[in-house]
Amino acid sequence: MPEETHTGGCLCGEVRYEIRARFLQTTLCHCEDCRKASGAPVVAWSFFPTGSLVWTKGKPKVVRYAERERSFCGDCGSPLTFFDPSIPELFEANTNTLDDPSCYPPLDQCWVCDEVPWASHMADLPRFTRTAPLPGGV
Ligand SMILES: [Zn+2]
Ligand SMILES: [Zn+2]
Repeated sequence: MPEETHTGGCLCGEVRYEIRARFLQTTLCHCEDCRKASGAPVVAWSFFPTGSLVWTKGKPKVVRYAERERSFCGDCGSPLTFFDPSIPELFEANTNTLDDPSCYPPLDQCWVCDEVPWASHMADLPRFTRTAPLPGGV
């Protein structure tokens, strides 16, 4: 089987990575830690075997909170990876920092106990191709 290579990086391009492995799982995480760390209502994660990631440009900053490690770009702040030492065989790459996130559709949702109540209604909201109109029709 040919080796799979997945590439990604942060918003500003100062940190780039390459993962050489097949992904193990994909999920949408609603936990409060992910929400706070990302500023988003939910975070898409793709799980890969530990040791399969190489930083190909720059190095991320790593913060440890609640005994877990989150990496992010020290220049633009993009959250990049998550590692829980109690599950040492895998790590999570922020799906939306992969160059083609469309290849990693989430297979489930976890930590829905922490879900922001309106998150489950997002698909029902009015959709605009680009910028939404401002209040008062400005
Ligand atoms: Zn960056
Ligand atoms: Zn989470």
